[in-house]
Amino acid sequence: MADLKNKIALVKALLSNKQIIRAKPSINWFLAKYMGKFNLINVGGQLIIHSHLPPINSKAFTRFINEHLLARTKGPSHAQISLTNVCPQNCGYCYNKNRKGELLNTSEIKRLIQELKKMGVCWLGLTGGEPLMNKDIVEIVKSVGDDCAVKIFTTGANLSEQLAMELKKAGLLYVSISLDHWEKEEHDRNRGYAGAFQTALRAIEIFKSIGVHVSVSAVISRRMLQENQVQELLDFLISLGIHEAWLSETKPTVEAFWHKEAVITENERLSLVSLQDKYNKERKITVNYLGHFEGKEHFGCNAGNKMVYIDAFGEVSPCVFTPLTFGNMRDKPVQAIFSEMKEYFPSEGNCFINQNYELLKKHYKGQSPLNKEDTDEMMKEVRFSLPSEFSRLYYK
Ligand code: SF4
Repeated sequence: MADLKNKIALVKALLSNKQIIRAKPSINWFLAKYMGKFNLINVGGQLIIHSHLPPINSKAFTRFINEHLLARTKGPSHAQISLTNVCPQNCGYCYNKNRKGELLNTSEIKRLIQELKKMGVCWLGLTGGEPLMNKDIVEIVKSVGDDCAVKIFTTGANLSEQLAMELKKAGLLYVSISLDHWEKEEHDRNRGYAGAFQTALRAIEIFKSIGVHVSVSAVISRRMLQENQVQELLDFLISLGIHEAWLSETKPTVEAFWHKEAVITENERLSLVSLQDKYNKERKITVNYLGHFEGKEHFGCNAGNKMVYIDAFGEVSPCVFTPLTFGNMRDKPVQAIFSEMKEYFPSEGNCFINQNYELLKKHYKGQSPLNKEDTDEMMKEVRFSLPSEFSRLYYK
């Protein structure tokens, strides 16, 4: 019964954007099936499936329909920007670990956001380093506008109640707080920082108390998978009363993870997908596993195609986990860099970095991201997999 009610609420919410009917029936059927796996929740009037999509009743979602489903813009729908490389914590798997350069300033970041929106971006992730260490974060969030969903990925460091409130007023929609383990010692060890666990719990309480959609982003190691610990983590996250568990596995982005034993297998990915579906049916928390969203049976890998990442120094990469650069936004408009990058990246079914870390290792010369020349050399050797189900329907 609850399931039926959820589906009816979802269809109603989708139909509040009447123009969605003009999208291909096969796409609408795909979206209804995909979204029907999640509970539609209402946070302060925003109807949310999960935090990797704009709320269904938002201007950002209307833009997603108009610009991507109907006008089929060539630009990205999703982008992430790093606001700083500074971070008090020191995670072994940090995707920004070795990136260096001259930091983008606030006016460059604000200009970049507007350029990305013109290109089609309707979901923007602000990351770091620790994005709350950027002193202008409120001004930056405010500059995004209400036609693009904005999410902050944070450890919780540097957060005060006042800053959280200012971010909410500035338009912050989603916050994802890093928490990889239910045991304080284990999380602190992962993060290379004594106090990381308490910092995260405090940030969760602050954001919950002011009515922002709160997720925890947890990086799942292969050891956790093999020792069946994910369920325990999810049960702990339910006890925190948050809206969403945003799960991803460790990716072979940095040297320490460039070996087979560190990379998730297809069977392990599928076991996480099943776990996600099981928890979502129980409706105690939304579980949003990136390998489900980006699985070949759904939207697939859109690195460099519908996703783009700009690091704290202006380097343009296909996604946060791919340490390649296709140019720096200080040298060339981001739109031009994206168009050249997209020539290389069809949307494909499997995770690009999970499949190509061996090539990355081969072309690596001690610099991350690989410079443009080495990136071009590496890309000549890449072979892509078949498109995802969504891309097959979208590009057919
Ligand atoms: S490379 Fe992997 S992590 Fe990056 S967008 Fe593709 S699926 Fe996601």
